Amino acid sequence: TSMKEIDAVGHRVVHGGEKFACSVKIDDAVMTALEECTPFAPLHNPANITGINACRAVMGDDVPMVAVFDTAFHQTMPGKAYMYAIPYEYYQNDGIRRYGFHGTSHRYVSARCAELMGKPIEELKLISCHMGNGSSICAIDGGKCVDTSMGFTPLVGLPMGTRCGDLDAGVIQFIMNKYGISIDEMLNILNKKSGVLGVSGVSSDFRDLDSAAADGNDRAQLALDMFHYWVAKVVGSYVAAMNGVDAIIFTAGVGENSKSSRAAIAEYFGYLGVKIDEAANSKRGEDIMISTPDSKVKVFVIPTNEELVIARDTKAICG
Ligand code: AMP
Repeated sequence: TSMKEIDAVGHRVVHGGEKFACSVKIDDAVMTALEECTPFAPLHNPANITGINACRAVMGDDVPMVAVFDTAFHQTMPGKAYMYAIPYEYYQNDGIRRYGFHGTSHRYVSARCAELMGKPIEELKLISCHMGNGSSICAIDGGKCVDTSMGFTPLVGLPMGTRCGDLDAGVIQFIMNKYGISIDEMLNILNKKSGVLGVSGVSSDFRDLDSAAADGNDRAQLALDMFHYWVAKVVGSYVAAMNGVDAIIFTAGVGENSKSSRAAIAEYFGYLGVKIDEAANSKRGEDIMISTPDSKVKVFVIPTNEELVIARDTKAICG
């Protein structure tokens, strides 16, 4: 009935740049730093800042607030993983590098996976596949992110619902020149009209793609095949990067709900000795190991819970 019932507020903030490697209590210096990160996430950070200011306005300065960053978990990546091979001054002067996103989700499911395996996360090599409308994969060695598929922005890595994923920059120049379109229009195409929607011409929703493919739509099948192939390819590169893997995790809308996508991706993991238990793979909405007991690498479905991480961090910092 009253704002006074609220003891603390946790805010999801998309971009913390290199300034934030963990969640922080919000003060004026943090607000200034968030403003400084806005050029990196011009669509998201201003909305996050508006939310914080609105809460501060109605709740007053006595209610502590915490910022939890999508980028923070990935700050442990080594230079060889986060640097782009472009002139160094763009990193030095402008902060152009891989930042990665969905960090709160990757952090949650990797910690939960270690719990389910009954082992300290420090002893595990994990690969988490956050597959939703936006998708990213994260290599987690000993509890620390060592690589992730999204980059300076969330546009790259896997083909997603409507985002293109990795793309030769020459394609951008070619299309812009041929069709006389601006960079803003081009980025709108790459963010909103590409991915599995662009390839299939059907939908960004994997449920629609599954049913169109079942009805014989070849482009819907191609979009699904591309997505599964890319997940398998990135997972394979992270197995190489970590010199092994103990468990692979599926999470988010597609990862948690689509048994057909999980099965299609796991088909690529024969070389890892992965064996999927079909009955377990048919379950939904729970933390579950979907590999057989004798599978060399374990495979889990773990529903993500970013809100819980935000609440826990807020309690830990303000409690
Ligand atoms: P998220 O971004 O994590 O909320 O995921 C949203 C996406 O999950 C949707 O666009 C769908 O593509 C996908 N999704 C949700 N439910 C299902 C399902 N039952 N089968 C396949 N994909 C699903």
